[in-house]
Amino acid sequence: MTDIPVPQPDLASTNFFAALDAGRLEILRCDNCGTAHLAVLRCDVCAGIAFTPEPASGRATVYSFTRVHIAHHPAFAERLPVCGGIVELEEGPRLFAPLLGEGAFSIGAGLVVELIPADGRMIAGFRLATQGTRS
Ligand SMILES: [Zn+2]
Repeated sequence: MTDIPVPQPDLASTNFFAALDAGRLEILRCDNCGTAHLAVLRCDVCAGIAFTPEPASGRATVYSFTRVHIAHHPAFAERLPVCGGIVELEEGPRLFAPLLGEGAFSIGAGLVVELIPADGRMIAGFRLATQGTRS
């Protein structure tokens, strides 16, 4: 089976992926205005360049999703169909992520999801939350 392709960190995302490799999902909090980001070099609210990493809760709300039935990479051919979507973290930033686990095909916009490891790789995957709702 072909390995799933993983993103290659760039200057802005190095800390984000290093934290994932260590089993943590982190955000970057702008030291000037407090806005939460995922992987940036400059705050898009105040243009600040200083950030402090902080752990994210791992909980998010599905903003948008899709079901993929055609493999665009050989690594996904035996895994079809797969789900992915844009999730909004409780802290605010949004990211595209695989939607995995039991019930992945019942995931829809507005549902609460939580972070899970994805094949031990530096990918943030989410599944339906087992409890609680977003307030
Ligand atoms: Zn800022």
